[in-house]
Amino acid sequence: MNALPDSIQVFERGWLSSNNVMLLGRDDTAIIDTGYMTHAPQTLELVRHALRGRHLDQIINTHLHSDHCGGNASLQAHFGSRTSIPVAEADKVRHWDVEALSFKATGQRCERFTFDATVSPGDVLKLADMEWQALGAPGHDPHSLIFYCAQERVLISADALWENGFGIIFPELDGQSGFAEERATLDLIEGLDVRLVIPGHGKPFNDVAGALARARSRVDYLEADPLRNAQNALKVLLKFLLLERQSIPLVEVPRLLLAMPVFAKANSNFLKQTPEEVATWAAGQLVRAGAARVEGEHLLNV
Ligand SMILES: [Zn+2]
Repeated sequence: MNALPDSIQVFERGWLSSNNVMLLGRDDTAIIDTGYMTHAPQTLELVRHALRGRHLDQIINTHLHSDHCGGNASLQAHFGSRTSIPVAEADKVRHWDVEALSFKATGQRCERFTFDATVSPGDVLKLADMEWQALGAPGHDPHSLIFYCAQERVLISADALWENGFGIIFPELDGQSGFAEERATLDLIEGLDVRLVIPGHGKPFNDVAGALARARSRVDYLEADPLRNAQNALKVLLKFLLLERQSIPLVEVPRLLLAMPVFAKANSNFLKQTPEEVATWAAGQLVRAGAARVEGEHLLNV
């Protein structure tokens, strides 16, 4: 039995926006993660369509990266939904502390939203008539939560586990520990008896053992030379900018990279190159991977 329960709908959104998980219970409705800000009108349409006239009672975020909570503000404005965020982020959101929140550090945007409640690791949430346990899943993000429904053996894994890998290990860019945490998170997932994973990006999948094996081998690969994590981060952050803007003048790339504190730290810790050198390298990598192309003086999204 590999399918999604009838009361769960997943909007697979690609990479600028995370997936959105709709939980449609008899008496309550919720969404886990809301995509990126520029996709918010589309998110609202998808949610309204799925709700068929019902109200959206709850918004819950696995973690507060801009591609997971960028639709919060518009859904709140439309539905007034009760919003729950990971407990460790409460003060930052309360004061909208752009230095401490990740948006400024990554050069990404997020419309300001509010929250009504927090979720801590170990909490049990009743969503769509099922019980979901919130589990701490550090590695990609120190405060990320994942949600497990033992009854259905379904895991909402955010960016801790994808079918092929996981999100950037951000803490390591800043000289903090992240690889060990990611490995522990994978161990935690292995202990759960999951039959279906709903990841933060990409389609839901059943081969949990295969995904865990690929993820572990990737942690090993990155940890063997942390420069690889920094280079990967750089490519992903540039691709994100490109997804948002579609076209960037080549001459602007070094300045845009340098405007991200997370890049500046990764560069001084690992890459140790001039912004021009790094920009040329990253743009070249995206082109080689078929994720961008150069036309005249511009880098274009593919
Ligand atoms: Zn993330």
